Amino acid sequence: MARKYLVETFGCQMNYHDSERIAGLLEAEGYEHTANERDADLVVINTCSVRERAEDKLYTRLGEIREMAAETGRTPMVAVAGCVAQQEGERLLKRDKSIDVVIGTQSLKELPRLVDEVASVRKPRVDTHPHDDVSFPLGVARPSDPVRAWVTIIEGCNEFCAFCVVPYTRGHERMRPVRDILAEVKHAADSGRQEVQLLGQIVNHYQAPDDPGCDFAELLRRTAAVPGIARVRFASPHPRHVNDRLIAVLRDVPQVCKHLHLPVQSGSNRVLQAMRRRYTRESYLDLVDRLRQDVPRVALSTDMIVGFPGETAEDFEDTLDLVRRARYHSMYSFKYSPRPNTLAIKRMPDDVPEAEKTRRILALQALQQAAQTAHFEAAVGTVEDILVDGASKRRDHEVAGRTSGNTVVNFPGPADWIGRIIPVRITAAGPNSLRGEPCLSK
Ligand code: SF4
Repeated sequence: MARKYLVETFGCQMNYHDSERIAGLLEAEGYEHTANERDADLVVINTCSVRERAEDKLYTRLGEIREMAAETGRTPMVAVAGCVAQQEGERLLKRDKSIDVVIGTQSLKELPRLVDEVASVRKPRVDTHPHDDVSFPLGVARPSDPVRAWVTIIEGCNEFCAFCVVPYTRGHERMRPVRDILAEVKHAADSGRQEVQLLGQIVNHYQAPDDPGCDFAELLRRTAAVPGIARVRFASPHPRHVNDRLIAVLRDVPQVCKHLHLPVQSGSNRVLQAMRRRYTRESYLDLVDRLRQDVPRVALSTDMIVGFPGETAEDFEDTLDLVRRARYHSMYSFKYSPRPNTLAIKRMPDDVPEAEKTRRILALQALQQAAQTAHFEAAVGTVEDILVDGASKRRDHEVAGRTSGNTVVNFPGPADWIGRIIPVRITAAGPNSLRGEPCLSK
């Protein structure tokens, strides 16, 4: 009987895509997928360490798996992958005896071999070695989305922002050849996916190692030109690498979605400097103005950290002011938590009290919610092209999809619309999504 595997994923889109690759690698070795941990012979937990709370989820899950094993008398092999695996390595084995394999972010391809070794020698295995080769066999990823394919174009990051663990867990920046990227995009289109999301820690720093004429803007053009690809998205760009060429592609290439996630992290120049972000609030807001002027109806989103070491009430007021001016469509906001190895944990005391961090994040989220509501209400009455990506979570006989600007819209329609682009008249604004009616005679 085939061995069964279950992959659980925490964290960012890169991790979800790595989990697709893990699933594909295991299936190539004859494993079968199960959604039930009680049936699994192998549980892979693909972890995130970007915030303390994300890291804690690993230890909670390990405890739950131990309890399940005690209850059923059936103990699955446990592999820990991802950023916590890379960061903690051997220490994980000391902390939790139920772990059989620790596999770092750069060694994923070795997972099936290590699992087999553990099965034969009955000793845990760890591989957190750095690898420069960022290729995977074409088509190995097991797709987890009916309409969307994720394609990694860059691994790692060289920016070393003071709060961020990524350069330590994902390693230095390595670009994939454009030839491999476009082959993967074509494979996604040939297998029926209409949307491609290009992934990288600083996606717009891309420069093809195999073609000096292909920077990120050119890669977007070439991706959009692949037959069958109706939409192209990307995550995440760094504000200091957004240039005129990228803005022109956003404006001119219809397949490139009119949405830019532009992580700002703080609205205070003092805090931005301490974070080593290498832009100012003024240059960031100039960029926002240029984007709004040159790319009609562009939707902007961002990431924000509150309570970074040394952040004063005045610094936080600057953040609120920037949010008022930038008028984001959406925002991911976090309370600062010190992460291992970073400049901030080494040199900057975590001196903003927890209660004050909570007060600040609530104020920030209330401001953002008001901005989002204003955007949503302004959309009522307009007609948007929606790429349908699934059944609505809210009602039967409804489907859901996203606008080019990345807002979720629910509307009546049959399940066989999944994968189609349907014009929809927006009829109502909810707190986190829009409602509409299909308008096929647009
Ligand atoms: Fe982390 Fe900064 Fe690199 Fe983004 S740019 S991954 S925040 S170090």
